[in-house]
Amino acid sequence: MTTVGFIGLGVMGSPMSIHLVRAGFDVVGFNRTAAKTAALVEAGGRAAASVGEAVASAEVVALMLPDTPDVVGVLSGPQGVFTHARAGALIIDFSTIRPDVTAELAGNAADHGLRYLDAPVSGGEAGAKAGTLSVMVGGDAADVAEAQAIFDAVGTTIVHVGPHGAGQTVKAANQLIVAGTIELMAEALVFLEAHGVDTDAALDVLGGGLAGSRVLEQKRTNMLTRTFDPGFRIDLHHKDLGIVLDAARQAEVVTPVTALVAQLMAAARAAGDGSLDHSALLRTVERLSGR
Ligand code: NAD
Repeated sequence: MTTVGFIGLGVMGSPMSIHLVRAGFDVVGFNRTAAKTAALVEAGGRAAASVGEAVASAEVVALMLPDTPDVVGVLSGPQGVFTHARAGALIIDFSTIRPDVTAELAGNAADHGLRYLDAPVSGGEAGAKAGTLSVMVGGDAADVAEAQAIFDAVGTTIVHVGPHGAGQTVKAANQLIVAGTIELMAEALVFLEAHGVDTDAALDVLGGGLAGSRVLEQKRTNMLTRTFDPGFRIDLHHKDLGIVLDAARQAEVVTPVTALVAQLMAAARAAGDGSLDHSALLRTVERLSGR
């Protein structure tokens, strides 16, 4: 039985770790807030009291942490994965972080005799709970093949998109498209309501035409009912748009609409909506229109 040390048991990591248990893996979980290991333990996994304890006997180390500094912090230093993992262990970073830092971390892992894949996911909390995530994987083909059973336990669309960091680059593009689509949906809703149109009927017909999208399907109820429990927090999407803009600058490409949407996401956060679902971008659009 393969042992997986799973670090970061939040909105996404908790259901993903439970799917790994159900798929037959021995999962040892660690989370900074210890209470969050409870669901994993109830499902048949084990809880560790430190990163070192979680990874000491693991062939695979999975990470699902909020941001780049969190991943760097958990991997590096005397308490970190690089110091405590077994020789040859495969690190799979499911978090969404910077592609450039990811490429550096993969190099650091190799220096420690470890292997590394970036494997950010899309599909949200619903996809994590259902085990139907899309996983965009960067790294060596042999490692991707070895990790296939792990990916199959948490997702249904698994694509190896290129070398170390490429998974994170693809995820950045995903976040650009999702944020832009949410913003346009919010504008459409405020526009439709201002004209007194039945928005439920309007979204039915829009959803069946070219304007339809997975974002529209998954976020329409949140937006129509103004129910913004996360889900994917505005704070995290703000982080991701920063990643996109930095990576675009590095590549010397111009992404003007992304820059605008990033400002609107920052405005949502500044207005106190950071802990709401990203569909709450609607509230920023409403404020701009004085509604
Ligand atoms: P979350 O904040 O719910 O979970 C992160 C967990 O990591 C928390 O439980 C936190 O306590 C823990 N943590 C933070 N620092 C730690 C440390 N040093 N040691 C141990 N545990 C630590 O976030 P989430 O929504 O699960 O997102 C995780 C990652 O997945 C992010 O990069 C996010 O962008 C990405 N993501 C999220 C979604 C979504 O819908 N929520 C979808 C796709 C991708």
